[in-house]
Amino acid sequence: MHEATVAEAILGLVLKSIPPETLLVKKINLVVGALSGIEKESLDLYFAELSKGGKAAGAELNFSIKPAKLVCTVCGKVNLFNGREKLQEKCLSCGGLNKLETEKLFYIDHVEVI
Ligand SMILES: [Zn+2]
Repeated sequence: MHEATVAEAILGLVLKSIPPETLLVKKINLVVGALSGIEKESLDLYFAELSKGGKAAGAELNFSIKPAKLVCTVCGKVNLFNGREKLQEKCLSCGGLNKLETEKLFYIDHVEVI
């Protein structure tokens, strides 16, 4: 995913959704799927650049990572996969093949303003 586009979309949505009397956006809480491929560092940079001079300038982007699920196709055992560790292709209980159930999640959970 392109972080510049994502940063722009977040900024647009946040500015549209905050009440007019808002002085500053302090924090933007995002829910991000483990496999969404969004780099926080890169998103932070773009967001800081794009939000300059506006009500969301200096707002913190808080990532809440939602793990993907690895489901065994044989016994049905579910393991969570957070995208950082090595992907287990086989079930740890029975050795069956695991299937990755991904959600390409990415949304704004809530925004904190002052
Ligand atoms: Zn299994």
